[in-house]
Amino acid sequence: MADLMGLTAPELKELAERLGEPAYRGTQVAKWLYKQGVTDLDAMTDLPKAFREKLKAEGYRGGSLQVAKVQVASDGTRKFLFDSSGCGMIESVLMPSEYGLSVCVSTQIGCAVKCAFCATGLSGFQRNLSAGEIVEQVVLMQQECGDRVTNVVFMGMGEPLHNYDATLKAVQLLNNEVGIGMRHISVSTSGVVPGIDRLSEENLQLTLAFSLHAPNDKLRDYLVPLNRRYNLAALKKALRNYHDRTKRRITVEYVMLGGVNDSPDLARETVEWLRGLHVHVNLIPYNATDADFKPSRPQTIAAFRDILDAAGFPVTVRVERGADIAAACGQLRRQAEPPEAGSPPQEASTRA
Ligand code: SF4
Repeated sequence: MADLMGLTAPELKELAERLGEPAYRGTQVAKWLYKQGVTDLDAMTDLPKAFREKLKAEGYRGGSLQVAKVQVASDGTRKFLFDSSGCGMIESVLMPSEYGLSVCVSTQIGCAVKCAFCATGLSGFQRNLSAGEIVEQVVLMQQECGDRVTNVVFMGMGEPLHNYDATLKAVQLLNNEVGIGMRHISVSTSGVVPGIDRLSEENLQLTLAFSLHAPNDKLRDYLVPLNRRYNLAALKKALRNYHDRTKRRITVEYVMLGGVNDSPDLARETVEWLRGLHVHVNLIPYNATDADFKPSRPQTIAAFRDILDAAGFPVTVRVERGADIAAACGQLRRQAEPPEAGSPPQEASTRA
């Protein structure tokens, strides 16, 4: 089967014409998919039945995701588990706030980066998602909650820059077809230098978020094993180049792990590493389950924040969302799918 979700409006118009229909039929399909969140061809009622049948006969379907499970937290955060037509489970999170409706989407099933504290990393890598599967998470959540999504962060399961082409196409579809402003889209990376370089060439107005988590290679090699390939010196160069090209301020994410990376000395080391970069720092309280890591104490986070603040860096502490529903990516899927033989028996907690 081939999914219509993931094709741009021009591609859908071309397809309509190839099947002997006027081009505007493609525009109608695009509206159903991206504006209405309708993926059932039979529900696209303004399309002639013969066209819908032709699409089916050619092996097309609207999309591939079905909502398998929704958990609602006491703060209104909703966690979705999507079944990708038997090809794996995908997690996404929807978070209402006074700034609008934000969603966090996945770009892969599992992840090869294997960050030490991340439930998704523990599951290993299964496969890349297509652009259609990434966008479908957004339109289905939008349809489920009956409200417009205002912000999309690529911070769910997977390393977006390890699935570069699908991520980039999804960004463009969200911007052009779904109507989400480029400045309201964030792509978060654990530090794939060639991907950062490539993204800087696109010169998009999206926000690049970089997961630092440790200011020296020794600790970062342990927390984010990808650091052994792209170390902090290479990353700093890539981030500086990214800012020079795009003029966009970079968000630096730092998950606060109690007794691991949250000392005042490491805060001062972080200040030194950040010097010369145009960044906003986001400290993320660790969303603990029952693993090897524990969250930093609030006063430790405050002290870390104050050191960065005193050095002149804009810094915020992320408000925890959905803690009562295991809203960190990787957790819900691991609950739904028991770990494979040989993998650790407990979840290691959050995606930063
Ligand atoms: S934190 Fe992100 S990059 Fe690291 S293992 Fe988890 S999903 Fe992958």
